[in-house]
Amino acid sequence: MDARGYGILRWKFIGVIVCFSLIPVVALGSFINSRFSRTYEEKVTSNLRIMIENKRYAVDMFLQERIAQVRNLAYTHTLSEMGDQTFLSELFGTIRTGSASFIDLGVIGSDGRHVAYAGPYDLVGANYADEDWFHQVTLKGVYVSDVFMGFRNYPHFIIAVLRRDGDQSWILRATIDSEVFNRLVQSVQLGRRGDAYLVNGEGVLQTPSRFGPPALERCFLPVEGINELTILDLPSHERRELAGIVPLRTMDWKLVISEDPSEEMSPLLTVRSIALFLVLGGVVVIFAGAFLTTRSIVAKVERADREKAAADVNLMQSSKLAALGKMAAGVAHEVNNPLTLIREAAGWITDLLTDEDPECLKHFEEIEEAARDIDRHVERAKTVTHRMLGFARRMEPVQENVDVGALVEGTISFLANEAMHRNIIIQREYAPDLPLINTDATQVQQVVLNLLENAIDAVGRDGSIQVRTGTGSGEVSFSVSDTGPGIDPQLIHKIFDPFFSTKKVGEGTGLGLSITYGIVERLGGRINAESEPGRGATFTVHLPA
Ligand code: ADP
Repeated sequence: MDARGYGILRWKFIGVIVCFSLIPVVALGSFINSRFSRTYEEKVTSNLRIMIENKRYAVDMFLQERIAQVRNLAYTHTLSEMGDQTFLSELFGTIRTGSASFIDLGVIGSDGRHVAYAGPYDLVGANYADEDWFHQVTLKGVYVSDVFMGFRNYPHFIIAVLRRDGDQSWILRATIDSEVFNRLVQSVQLGRRGDAYLVNGEGVLQTPSRFGPPALERCFLPVEGINELTILDLPSHERRELAGIVPLRTMDWKLVISEDPSEEMSPLLTVRSIALFLVLGGVVVIFAGAFLTTRSIVAKVERADREKAAADVNLMQSSKLAALGKMAAGVAHEVNNPLTLIREAAGWITDLLTDEDPECLKHFEEIEEAARDIDRHVERAKTVTHRMLGFARRMEPVQENVDVGALVEGTISFLANEAMHRNIIIQREYAPDLPLINTDATQVQQVVLNLLENAIDAVGRDGSIQVRTGTGSGEVSFSVSDTGPGIDPQLIHKIFDPFFSTKKVGEGTGLGLSITYGIVERLGGRINAESEPGRGATFTVHLPA
């Protein structure tokens, strides 16, 4: 998998974790929110119901008390008493001290004319015969009017009671100050948006609305046809309005109380904001948790994949070496014997030539040269078979205490002359206090030798080789760097393959590094090559301490 693949894997993990963690959080959040909202809606509505019922009761009581008061006056006094202006004025004075809501009191004869009047206006003699209220009270006995302006140009309403006394009948009429009445209703105009008012049967306001029209204009709400307590939920683009409408019991009026539920719901909104904040906080925490967990999981997967890939390469290298080992043993053995015979034969020819007179043998020198060539080439071939045998011989390493620093230095001395001839400087950088390690000195020496030979070959002439030792993480390491041409990046993965060589035929066998690899592996260590083409190569061997 490449870096993009791991990126996709990471986001898939995060997606799955976040989705599965968010579903319960969001579900719980919305469940709590909906339950809470519903409970609150119910609470707000029921509060409104209780409030409007109480207020309706108060208004009905107010009206009933006034009606009862007027009726009592009419039925406990005779026309002659009430028709007496002085008596009526005294009576009115007494009533006013008890209740300031009475504006005036008038006694009207059956012909519609004022018989007596007590109050601030000059209404004695006024004729009501053609007034609607006059007909209504004559018919029904008791009449309460809607609010009207009347002669006085001031909103008020009247309560009129018909008293029949034998064949005589007269009417007692009281005017009620609708201001007192307004105050009674408006005491429930709660909050910033609360409103309360009375409307008559036709929807005309009897007391002014706080935000709507004044008294005696039409109300905005559709109150007609409502004959029991009704709650209207009026969504508007500005704000929601919850209106309760209830008909009065005493007369054909309705009490309307409206409010902005968001005011009452503000505690809910606070709770909702806190819940939203908590849910969002939860989402952030879940996301961060998922991100961090996933990052560490994917990093572990990536590391495991890398280690597996490296192990696969090692395994392949080992199996290549094992296969080659078997083959090499057979080939080397088979080739070695004929080579020995050829060499002996060549030696025999050389020996025979010593008995010959060079003058008598026409091609004496060519034969001698050819025998030497045979010997030289057989020697070369034997080096290869020898190496192959060494490679094939899977000797069990001998365990001894080895001072890697001393061993490296000793090995350098084998090649010091060669390096000097080629003007190659060997620099040393040895770590102090390198621990002794339990390993096979001869085989480690073989490794150092192979690496140094390759480095000298790579540098050729005039350059330098740096040999370092070091220790750390339970390992002892040594490395050989050179100032040669380095290794082509496309070939670096092949250099440990048996018979891989970039050297000219006859100069390289391609076995040095594969043998080295095999030895290091057998000793429980590892070897790696690094190279920057044009700037040399570094081979580092790590051995378990
Ligand atoms: P040989 O040296 O016989 O070719 P090796 O197995 O020792 O075989 O090396 C294989 C190949 O690795 C070499 O042919 C060379 O291309 C490359 N190589 C090894 N060591 C170095 C080095 N120090 N610098 C550059 N190339 C190297």
